[in-house]
Parts: sequence; structure tokens; C-alpha cells
Amino acid sequence: MPSCPGGNRNGGGTGAAAPVEAPARGAAPLESAVVVAHPDDEILWLSGPLGSADRVVFCFGDPFGRPKLAAARRRAVAALALPRLVELRIPESGARFAADWGQPRLTRCGIDVIDAAARARYEANFTILVDRLRPLLRACRDVYTHNPWGEYGHTEHIQVYRAVAALQAELGFTIWFGNYVAARSWPLARAIGRAPCWTARRTIAPDLATARRLARLYRRHGAWTWSRFHRWPAEEVLYAQPSAAAGDARRALSGEVLCDVAALRWWAPWRTAARRLD
Ligand SMILES: [Zn+2]
Repeated sequence: MPSCPGGNRNGGGTGAAAPVEAPARGAAPLESAVVVAHPDDEILWLSGPLGSADRVVFCFGDPFGRPKLAAARRRAVAALALPRLVELRIPESGARFAADWGQPRLTRCGIDVIDAAARARYEANFTILVDRLRPLLRACRDVYTHNPWGEYGHTEHIQVYRAVAALQAELGFTIWFGNYVAARSWPLARAIGRAPCWTARRTIAPDLATARRLARLYRRHGAWTWSRFHRWPAEEVLYAQPSAAAGDARRALSGEVLCDVAALRWWAPWRTAARRLD
């Protein structure tokens, strides 16, 4: 893998948004980037590609209205010492799960948020996201990010996917997303999956060693936002979504097996996490 033109930008807790820059003319092209909404998403949903990524981007920083968690998260991210990390530190919108999941409606900025104040912050964040991600993804060939239904249905995961997708039309990289889902996001995953949305599939094993090591650090600093009983599956699937300009024929997700995160608990290894799309 070529080295990352941006170098190591592990934040170090200055509180300021990390500056971004385009790769220098003539620099080796970036192979790949992992782009996630929040710290800890990288090991929960994209641990497989994490180790070989030339750049890792955390989009959001402080959780909305939770100063204690914000401080804990900053300490945890500093302790990760994750190489090739860029923190955008955009404050969370607070929209979290505030959408109509029974009848989800996608928008340009993500998903329709039903809380007016959160929606205003959410929409403003979309513009900031696109502007800050553009120079970081300019030289990418592959971008690994959240799936279009936001794994377990987090509005900001959907927003990050849509910001990356908006830039794909401009920059031409291939998006890769994983097969995680939950009951909340299932109707949206089904709706999205009926339309052609992928061209190739890769089954990989999560990087358990890295995932567990970083999860311990998040927990130690009180910044782990997921179940303490989480177990990573033996395999996860990544779907490739090349830009429309590439001209490859996309396929629907019908018949594909998604992985229900509610079944990923270490005390219930017999529970099946498989959910097949019709
Ligand atoms: Zn997240």
C-alpha cells in the first residue's frame, strides 16, 4: 500500500477540526479510505479493511448534549494511536434515531429527521461533511463506509454514506459497504436492496485482534457506545458500488444475507444473525 499523503493526523485533543489537504501533485495515489461517522464504528462495522486502509476518517466528534461522553471520547481516540487517522470533529447533530423507520424517507442529506431542531443541525452537517471529505477522498480508488441504511438505523451513518455517495459522482471511486442490519433499519434495507446497488461481493473475516484491542481502549475510557456483550461474526460481507460512470451493471440485493446485529451477543452464539432479503 502506498503511504498516505496526509500523514498521521491523530488528533491529540486540540479541539480544532483537523485541517485537510489535497494530495500533492505527483504524489502516490491513495488506495483506500475507511470513513465512519463515530469513533468505535470503525471496529464494529469495518474492522476488516481497517488495517490496510491508507486513511481512516472519523466524521463526528462530540456527542450532542453529552459533555461527559464527549470528554471520554476525546481521551479514547487519543489513546487509540490509530495510524493514518483524520478526525473531522464535526459536532453530532443529536438526530440519532429520530426518523420514521416504518416509512423511512431518504433525503439529499441522509434520512428525513422528525425532530425539527435536530434536522436543522443534521442538514447543516451534511454540507460540512461533503466539503471536508472532498479533499480527503480525491485520490481514493476504494472508500469503505456505512451502508445506505445505516447498519442498525443510525441517522448519521446514513448521512455519512450519502455524503460519500455525493462525492463519488464527482471523484469516481468505488464505495464498499457492509451487510449489517437490525430490526429498525430492515424496512429501509429491503427498499434499498430492491434497486440495483452493487456489482461485486467480498466475504471477509473481521479483524478480531484489532477490534478487541481497540474496544478495550474505548471501554477503559468510558467511550464505548455499543453493547458490552457484542461478539463479532466469523464473516462479514462487503458489497462494491462503483460509480455510475464506470458503467458496470449493478444488481439488486434480493436473496443476499444480511447480518442482524441484535443476534451478535457473546452469550448467545447459537442465535442466527442471518436475515435474507426477499
Ligand atoms: Zn456510529
